[in-house]
Amino acid sequence: MKIGCPTEIKAQEYRVGLTPTAAAEAIVHGHEVLIQKGAGVGAGYEDADYEIAGARLVETAEEIFAEAEMIVKVKEPQANERAMLSEGQLLFTYLHLAPDRAQTDDLLASGATCIAYETVTDRMGGLPLLAPMSEVAGRLAPQMGAYTLQKANGGRGVLMGGVPGVFPARVVVIGGGVVGTQAARIAAGMGADVTVLDMSLPRLRYLDDVFGGVFKTGYASKTGTAELVARADMVIGAVLIPGAQAPKLISRAQLMDMQPGAVLVDVAIDQGGCFETSKPTTHQDPSFEVDGIMHYCVANMPGAVPRTSTQALSHATMPFMLSLADKGWQQACREDPHLAAGLNVQAGTLTNRAVGAAQERDA
Ligand code: NAD
Repeated sequence: MKIGCPTEIKAQEYRVGLTPTAAAEAIVHGHEVLIQKGAGVGAGYEDADYEIAGARLVETAEEIFAEAEMIVKVKEPQANERAMLSEGQLLFTYLHLAPDRAQTDDLLASGATCIAYETVTDRMGGLPLLAPMSEVAGRLAPQMGAYTLQKANGGRGVLMGGVPGVFPARVVVIGGGVVGTQAARIAAGMGADVTVLDMSLPRLRYLDDVFGGVFKTGYASKTGTAELVARADMVIGAVLIPGAQAPKLISRAQLMDMQPGAVLVDVAIDQGGCFETSKPTTHQDPSFEVDGIMHYCVANMPGAVPRTSTQALSHATMPFMLSLADKGWQQACREDPHLAAGLNVQAGTLTNRAVGAAQERDA
């Protein structure tokens, strides 16, 4: 199969759909790989790296879309990319179609078959192509929070690990899923005093079994959460209710009970945010203050570390990408229901129920 990977064109996107390693794997499997010149530069890959891997470099996205049978990307195709998709072509990328009617219309009109990373599933009921980005965001959260906690950045002036004779920072992580677990591990590794709160007892049991001694766990009751938040130097919001907006777990009034200069890191901001006073920010201007409390609310945190993020994403997508290329999407999806769960658009038909329900159309 001819596999094409264009340069990402969405603003602030530096990741790339295929690493040179993924390109080399596809070539070993007997496929041809076309890469747009410069596609990997944002993630630290030179054109020469792809050439060494055996890929063919082409100048423009138009050439990729005209020639490739499968397009592998990171972000949802932008309007001009959608216009280049053709009947019978396969698109493998993040789509996030539910709130995006215009994109859905264009993909249906294109006649292409589109498999969305975010709806591919695994045997444990997880989302294996979303998990790597949650891992990145989770590990980044204490790092960004620690920076924001510094006095010059508006914070309380507390060092995460303290020093001998001085207590470390108190970090509360709300939500002990993928993001929360990684955030807690890194915050604890920096020497902070960390508590993870969740409402799922099985999850708390798991965390206690595996990480007891590294960080504490607590049940996320309203009063228990409020007490811990009031004493915290940093609160990391990492909750998810699948398919729903994030619940607001800290109200504006509660900010007055917090320590001045404390930091809220709202990782759940991409689902609307879990603090009442959160609003999405960018890497250029990541934090703001409300009532003396610093807020860090970057909606695409993995974008800060595109090299790590690209590698993590590529490791997760590669087996699926190879299966699609080796077998064709029909056979690959027949053999693997988890990959089939990624099918959102199939040659002009919407095939994802949740997207159909969100847009009130048949699927
Ligand atoms: P996950 O499903 O692995 O974990 C979510 C956890 O939240 C679960 O353990 C659940 O029991 C818990 N939870 C739900 N409601 C709760 C409540 N009221 N109180 C306490 N705990 C509660 O999800 P995840 O992959 O860890 O993602 C967490 C959030 O981070 C999501 O909103 C996701 O979209 C977001 N995210 C943001 C970025 C970014 O760049 N900002 C990147 C990746 C993920």
